[in-house]
Amino acid sequence: MKGMVFKLVTPVLLLCMLIPIVASAVNYRNERERLVRNHIIGAGIKDTETIRSMRTVPREKFVPTELRKHAYANQPLPIGYGQTISQPYIVALMTELLSVDEDDRVLEIGTGSGYQAAILAVIAQEVFTIEIIEPLGIAASKKLTELGYGNIHTRIGDGYYGWEEQAPFDAIIVTAAADHIPPPLLKQLSPGGRMCIPVGQPYFPQVLKLVTRDREGNFTVRDILPVQFVPFTRADE
Ligand code: SAH
Repeated sequence: MKGMVFKLVTPVLLLCMLIPIVASAVNYRNERERLVRNHIIGAGIKDTETIRSMRTVPREKFVPTELRKHAYANQPLPIGYGQTISQPYIVALMTELLSVDEDDRVLEIGTGSGYQAAILAVIAQEVFTIEIIEPLGIAASKKLTELGYGNIHTRIGDGYYGWEEQAPFDAIIVTAAADHIPPPLLKQLSPGGRMCIPVGQPYFPQVLKLVTRDREGNFTVRDILPVQFVPFTRADE
């Protein structure tokens, strides 16, 4: 009799534990879909690969647990150490501007939570990402491995110098605002490559710029829109 009760209770208990987990995953998926429809497609993003990636990557896994309920609001959120995970629309816009395709190797400066790297990794062949704040870089690297993003390579350091051993890159994204475009990054951009970078002074509106390099190696810089990013910091400051 005792054995029978045990046999019955165990599956019921398991079910009680599983139901909330499945329900919250479904809930996040619905919220993600709503965000993509209203604030990504609805705001003019057209690139199908960017949209597919925004539909795939679980943003709730990249924000602090206590902020998960806000993961699908179209806003930046604090991730500790004075840094933020960018607003989803800006993540999508920068991804679209980079015109990433499946053969591309992409460099990101400013890993932060790892979310933007994950968005790029769904589309690109390989993503290389550098973070200057060690604990953030370590946490992001662990998270990306846990979630199975095997084509993302992380490094701790000052991204001003890029990642010379892995250069050149088809696309470069900088997710912190610098007062100028770092020359080492321009050098590491392939002919035909694209770079997206916010430029301006800390804590003032900055300008998101798209740099393209033609087949002959010449650069063109285009202003896209005013933005507000956390500052690009330097190892020696
Ligand atoms: N892409 C991130 C956004 C993080 S905010 C995300 O999806 O969450 C920008 C990040 O850039 C911060 O974590 C900050 O520490 C980092 N950063 C600032 N200056 C840097 C530099 N010189 N090299 C590398 N990372 C830098």
